[in-house]
Amino acid sequence: MNKKVLVLTESKNGKLRNVSFEALTVAQQLADGGEVIAALLGTGVSGFVEEVNQYGPDKVYVLENEELNTYTTDAYVQALTQLINEVQADVILLGHTAIGKDVAPRVAAKFAAGLVADCTGADLENGEIVFTRPIYAGKAFQKKVFNQGKVFATLRPNNVELKKNPVQAEVIPFQPVIKDLRTVVKEIVRKATSGVDLSEAKIIISGGRGVKGKEGFEPLQELAELLGGAVGASRGACDAEYCDYSLQIGQTGKVVTPDLYIACGISGAIQHLAGMSNSKTIVAINKDPEAPIFQVADYGIVGDLFEVVPLLTEEFKKA
Ligand code: FAD
Repeated sequence: MNKKVLVLTESKNGKLRNVSFEALTVAQQLADGGEVIAALLGTGVSGFVEEVNQYGPDKVYVLENEELNTYTTDAYVQALTQLINEVQADVILLGHTAIGKDVAPRVAAKFAAGLVADCTGADLENGEIVFTRPIYAGKAFQKKVFNQGKVFATLRPNNVELKKNPVQAEVIPFQPVIKDLRTVVKEIVRKATSGVDLSEAKIIISGGRGVKGKEGFEPLQELAELLGGAVGASRGACDAEYCDYSLQIGQTGKVVTPDLYIACGISGAIQHLAGMSNSKTIVAINKDPEAPIFQVADYGIVGDLFEVVPLLTEEFKKA
């Protein structure tokens, strides 16, 4: 096959995002004797080369550029288009993140190429690339086969087991021509968060309407902090203004795949399951033994979350 697979890495708060390492792991499988090429965009990104080298790239293109430091659609579309032309990539992998979702379809359209969005995996089968993606709100999986031409894909975070393959890749500086930008980012005002990114969190403690108020999230927050996880929510809790919509998980919220998802006072509506049913282990805490969430849960606790969650926190403190 000898494919050239280009991975657009992404950094956040001065760190490379885990999904970039997942994309590099997939790229190694797909290249099949071809080339794995990593791209680093922004200022100071040369410092990430060593980390990227852990995942077997043949080449690392470093696009040290002020215009790429903060994401803007125009700048990234121009840079990625020029880089793809330069390296003649066959397969272009990005994270299914806010950036990946915005830039991938635009650049794919420029090359009149296909895009497989929100993949949970990709493999080589009989020399063809087979992408897997969930459909019907996670009830079924679709396989998309590619055997010719250029293809773009975005990968859902937390679905690929990382495989290290330390190398010393060839590092190539690349300066794209970035011009006529229609948007300029003047200032970024960040919301105060727990620090753990919900879409990449390994542990999520999620609250629903059963938390009954803003204060009801406090025991969940305490447990999340203890376990190094993030707090999520159902739309029921967001609609009731118990928490911010940025925490919403589900069909119209974030899609998450943590190792552990603890649903507290969430009934398990299909729209909520669409965002979390692929979690590796699901624990449900609900007063109602008939709640649908128990049908997808690996472990179910029938009880009052205000009694169960503090008990769990106490036990984890002892561990
Ligand atoms: P409820 O269904 O009211 O469930 C509350 C649960 O808490 C109950 O099961 C109850 O037994 C339990 N409970 C109450 N008190 C306690 C206690 N003290 N201890 C333990 N358990 C307790 N929903 C999403 O979550 N995400 C989405 O992205 C989303 N998108 C949607 C898109 C569309 C187009 C539509 C129509 C709906 C969408 N919804 C979404 C809404 C979804 O249908 C449900 O209404 C919502 O998920 C319900 O939230 P909930 O489970 O918190 O509330």
